[in-house]
Amino acid sequence: MFIDTHTHLYLEEFNDDTAQVIEKAASLGVECMLLPNIDSTSWGPMLSLAAQYSQLLFPMAGLHPTSVLPDSFEKEILEVEKHLESGKFVAIGEIGIDLYWDKTHLELQEQVFRHQLQLAKKHKLPVAIHVRNSYNEVWRILKQELTPDLKGVFHCFPGNEIQAIQVSEAGFLLGIGGVVTFKNSLMQKALTAVGLQHIVLETDAPFLTPMPYRGKRNEPAYIPLIAEKVAGLCEITVEEVGRITTQNAKTLFKLP
Ligand SMILES: [Zn+2]
Repeated sequence: MFIDTHTHLYLEEFNDDTAQVIEKAASLGVECMLLPNIDSTSWGPMLSLAAQYSQLLFPMAGLHPTSVLPDSFEKEILEVEKHLESGKFVAIGEIGIDLYWDKTHLELQEQVFRHQLQLAKKHKLPVAIHVRNSYNEVWRILKQELTPDLKGVFHCFPGNEIQAIQVSEAGFLLGIGGVVTFKNSLMQKALTAVGLQHIVLETDAPFLTPMPYRGKRNEPAYIPLIAEKVAGLCEITVEEVGRITTQNAKTLFKLP
């Protein structure tokens, strides 16, 4: 049994075969899939898909850092807040800072990230954090906002061993995905530095496809490939990887 803690199944890359993709994943033991929101364009497709597969798919509420723009962020945040009041969500996500695509709005990204961390505390929800070329910025703000009950996952953990230990000691989990299957990736070192108790599995589908399908569309059915790699690196069985990471995800996201 596995949980894909980060997948964008509602994106158009899956329009032609959503049902098959979900069934294939379920048949391989991926018993539940968490859907992080992106921005105002994704609420509709995400929520209708989640409603259609309410036993398998669980949505998050949040504004993605690459969608934080001066003209629209206030309206976008209001929408996140409105959805949080009315709906059921397993987390605030995905939120964070992305300096890979654009550094222009760093200050605004920091402000919106901080605001969404505060929303998480207010609604007693964990966070799914997107960190891209921004570990130090994310960590600085997270540390300032940290309270004992603020928990979450660093999605697609990008840091080194020291940062991995730092994050896990603060009670946060590392999201381990396709990158762990790439030769000599930093993620392998981060994983073995903290161990299985501090990780969850994720695909980030349709992106970041694991080996041997790198370059093609990613999907939740590839979670067992990631689990196999993790099992090899930690020298335990795939079943143990499934059992422990599923338990970690169930506890963090309070899943049924
Ligand atoms: Zn994502």
